[in-house]
Amino acid sequence: MSTVIRARGLGKKYRQRWALQDCELELPAGRVIGLVGPNGAGKSTLLNLAAGLLAPSSGSIEVCGGPPAADVAQLARVGFVAQDTPTYGRLSVADHLTLGRRLNPGWDDAVARERIDRLGLDPKQRAGTLSGGQRAQLALTMALAKRPELLILDEPVASLDPLARREFMQLLMEAVAEQELSVVLSSHLVSDVERACDYLVVLVDSRVQVAGDLDELIATHHRLVGARRDPATLPGSQQVISASHTDRQTTLLVRTQEPILDPSWSVDGINLEDLVLAYMDKSAPVVRRPRLEVQR
Ligand code: ADP
Repeated sequence: MSTVIRARGLGKKYRQRWALQDCELELPAGRVIGLVGPNGAGKSTLLNLAAGLLAPSSGSIEVCGGPPAADVAQLARVGFVAQDTPTYGRLSVADHLTLGRRLNPGWDDAVARERIDRLGLDPKQRAGTLSGGQRAQLALTMALAKRPELLILDEPVASLDPLARREFMQLLMEAVAEQELSVVLSSHLVSDVERACDYLVVLVDSRVQVAGDLDELIATHHRLVGARRDPATLPGSQQVISASHTDRQTTLLVRTQEPILDPSWSVDGINLEDLVLAYMDKSAPVVRRPRLEVQR
């Protein structure tokens, strides 16, 4: 398995405050990786570090085998769509493609034109007069036509309506099927990740809480419900992620590779939303934090 992003003790501090700390990641190539967490968790900070737009305050990060944005070849390997999918308002759609062609050595003009055509965008129209959804599609088309090895998308659909969001994700998934590509996509919406991603990173309060293959994470986490019990009495192979109690009953979310044989528990599977919420809970059970939205 090759690695597309490797972070070692990575941290970024703004004045006195850490936006990202102690980040250890080894993200596999060829996957669609969802970076999920509430607003302010540090997602943009991590993605900007990966794109080479920020320098680490501590530790190191490697992207596609080298330091981010270190030279022309490294820049060509990574496509980055920043938050709010920026475009040049006064330039036309066709101007954007000309700009892309002149600035990017690996630019695939046929891919760009074919996508613009398929999207029904008028090449003569100024980007400033496109709808939010169309601007996002243009920004994604630009990033894809670079033929990057890694595509980084920072909350690309956050400001889009549900239809535009679905169309954007559809274009992305088509591109993933057609091009050999690794994608890292951040979102504060569990549903975006659920539809598109097969690998998950949960970031809360500037720290990575869990990272792994989505199916494997779902298969190894379980909800246990039973008579009230101290979670410390569970076997060592069962890692308690979150716990809640009533007077008589205990509900736990545990991670384990082993089957749960104790008959005093009623055992249920969990979904992605349960998983993400449990890790948010785990990071600071008593502190109120911004809500992670769950939208369908
Ligand atoms: P997310 O993308 O998950 O919403 P960010 O990475 O944008 O989170 O922010 C993480 C933390 O860093 C937040 O507390 C935010 O206020 C802070 N932060 C981000 N950018 C700056 C900056 N340029 N200066 C100071 N603080 C910042």
